[in-house]
Amino acid sequence: MIINGKKFAQNLKNNIKREIKFLKIKKKIVPGLTVILIGNNTPSEIYVRNKEISAQEVGINSKVLRFKNSITEKKLISIIHNLNNDKKVHGILVQLPLPQHINGSKIVEEINPNKDVDGFHPINVGNLSSGKDSLVPCTPLGCYLMIKSIKKDLTGLNALIIGRSNLNGKPMAQLLLKENCTVTISHSKTRNLKELCKKADIVFAAVGKPNFVKGNWVKKGSIVIDVGINRINHKNGYKIVGDVDFKSVVKKAKAITPVPGGVGPVTIACLLSNTLKAFKNN
Ligand code: NAP
Repeated sequence: MIINGKKFAQNLKNNIKREIKFLKIKKKIVPGLTVILIGNNTPSEIYVRNKEISAQEVGINSKVLRFKNSITEKKLISIIHNLNNDKKVHGILVQLPLPQHINGSKIVEEINPNKDVDGFHPINVGNLSSGKDSLVPCTPLGCYLMIKSIKKDLTGLNALIIGRSNLNGKPMAQLLLKENCTVTISHSKTRNLKELCKKADIVFAAVGKPNFVKGNWVKKGSIVIDVGINRINHKNGYKIVGDVDFKSVVKKAKAITPVPGGVGPVTIACLLSNTLKAFKNN
């Protein structure tokens, strides 16, 4: 089965839209999301535009605050504090990467954890790892929902996480651990990755290397989630591929996410779902 991320995301968005419509009638207020975008990095511009379009589609009041690369850390912190105190703003997202003179961790820590829709604040990270309710980073959250849509009970399954980033691998490991999976987290220093992969019922690849996971690494009937977004040269210029060699793995996996059209759209839908959750929590 090839998991259709666009369709999955659309279903999530339809549910969010319905709930927001109801809130608007009942409470006369809608969730508000503010995205801070610094500089003129083209991929960031595209991501932010897509987030804005999707937010508007479901009825979230979305705003993008744009600043030049030269903005100071102090100024950025004061903007975040204003948003923390703004009752109409329920979600705050600072688009990464940030200019070098700005300390990303410090910025994340200034966001009110209840409005941290990226789920990067140490309080949210801590709550997730201690099994408490929290705002969860959007990409692993989306992957988790897709896995659960394939198989409801994940108890006892072997899950292999490839990549240990704070953004993807670590939160995904926590989500699967909470579902009683036996989780292995691998990274660039891991030995015998292929052998570990052969034992996995769930493979989550967030490596950043094109077509890294091969068909002969994967156990028959496994669920394979491909987070990678890699640009490679192609006859007509370039194309986007994942971290999984789709052609060979699709023959072995029970379910697989394609790239593009898999994890990407669901990540954005989960940002909207986190905004709605932040709204409800507030
Ligand atoms: P990252 O921070 O660069 O982390 C990559 C991880 O892969 C690191 O933990 C690294 O290990 C590990 N790794 C590198 N080579 C390896 C190897 N040979 N064997 C095993 N592990 C290896 O990457 P990221 O931010 O998590 O992103 C990963 C990919 O996902 C990228 O392609 C990115 O563009 C994509 N992405 C997609 C979405 C989406 O919405 N679809 C969202 C975010 C990111 P070390 O820790 O030892 O260096």
